[in-house]
Amino acid sequence: MTGSSNRRQGVVLSYLVFARKWRPQTFSDVIAQEHVTMTLRNAIESSRIGHAYLFSGPRGVGKTTTARILAKALNCINGPTANPCMECDACCRITAGGHLDVLEIDGASNRGIDEIRELREKARYAAAEGGYKIYIIDEVHMLTREAFNALLKILEEPPDKVIFIFATTEPRKVPATILSRTQRFDFRRIPSAIMAEYIGAEALKEGITVTSEALSLVCRASGGSMRDALSIMDQLVSFSGGNISGESVSGLLGLVESDLLAGICSAVLHSRGSVALDLVDQALVRGYSVEELIDALAGFLRNLLLSASGAENGISDLSDSEITLIRQTVAGISDVHVLNVLRLVAGAADQIRGGSFPRISLEGALMTSAKLGIAFGLADLPSVVEKVAVTAVKTPDSGEAAAGSRETDKAFRNVSAMESKTDTDSGNSSETEKENSYVRKVSGLFDMIPENR
Ligand SMILES: [Zn+2]
Repeated sequence: MTGSSNRRQGVVLSYLVFARKWRPQTFSDVIAQEHVTMTLRNAIESSRIGHAYLFSGPRGVGKTTTARILAKALNCINGPTANPCMECDACCRITAGGHLDVLEIDGASNRGIDEIRELREKARYAAAEGGYKIYIIDEVHMLTREAFNALLKILEEPPDKVIFIFATTEPRKVPATILSRTQRFDFRRIPSAIMAEYIGAEALKEGITVTSEALSLVCRASGGSMRDALSIMDQLVSFSGGNISGESVSGLLGLVESDLLAGICSAVLHSRGSVALDLVDQALVRGYSVEELIDALAGFLRNLLLSASGAENGISDLSDSEITLIRQTVAGISDVHVLNVLRLVAGAADQIRGGSFPRISLEGALMTSAKLGIAFGLADLPSVVEKVAVTAVKTPDSGEAAAGSRETDKAFRNVSAMESKTDTDSGNSSETEKENSYVRKVSGLFDMIPENR
């Protein structure tokens, strides 16, 4: 990135990166996950401590952090306590990551049966320091089937004072037999407003000022992951010193990914093909490959389609500010229009995999999609319907059409009626109209089909 800046100012930077320095140390420090921390506190206070916990949720929202706090709560000299003292030897060593009985295992790199068998052997021995022996297995869904089976054997007969905390971004990949033996806690994506407030306050403590525009850009770029937001903050401070403005964020990150995708889609949906191609160029300059870009576009369009058709429950894994962006992008656009664009883009994605001219396929699909807007934009819809109706009345078999045969039949007739109308008009109609006739042939049918069929 273009990190060499002369604007760097005299802020004394501590060595510790924000993600570590600002890591919550107690249950009450963990933000936006009160439904988890309250339950854990209550369980500890009423001595109902489970043998295995599953912390699921998107990355960077506090799963491992909460696991460490739980370990402190259990092994603190005053423990088990909902309020670990943070001063005793155990608390300090868990914070520093050097406690003998709190073992953090990365499930992605220790996924085989041998590692889990070894863990099983060691779990039999009592905790070296007399408290609880706690295994925190991160990305547990990465374990192999055999490893899960070995793990299941421990969970079926857990040794006394051994506790497992599994963290995962993909709970669906964890076998049901394991799930049923754990207490599950679902961590949520951190709402932008809460994240912005937190980062702003912490930054201020460090003598760093961040404008609200910059904060909202950082939060959007983070996609609801606090870890990502903090690592962007680290870069920003190195990039622009102690005064972070919206400009410094866009200077460092360029256009935030979701904004870029929204820009391209919006341009296409509003028939501004050249704007879309400019943005594509920017994206490729920034290091996107054509394949990555078209995949990201297809994903974004899918979300637009769900939003336009009122099925937002299907939009998963997005922060609230991204959902707002999706609603804004699709405002006033019909779901059928989005669907047609998505079809073209998805078709181009297939072409790109095997084709010799990926960029041309991408640009061609976007240009064609932008024409769809002219042919079937919501603003034009009444006149199109009018044309179709007029032509249908003039058509010899219009009586039959009025009698109302099957809807699909009608749709077919309407399209052909419209084509002939376009043909007769071509003499005096604009060039654009001519260009659109092909697009209509491709997409017109979808627009004619009643919505609830
Ligand atoms: Zn303590």
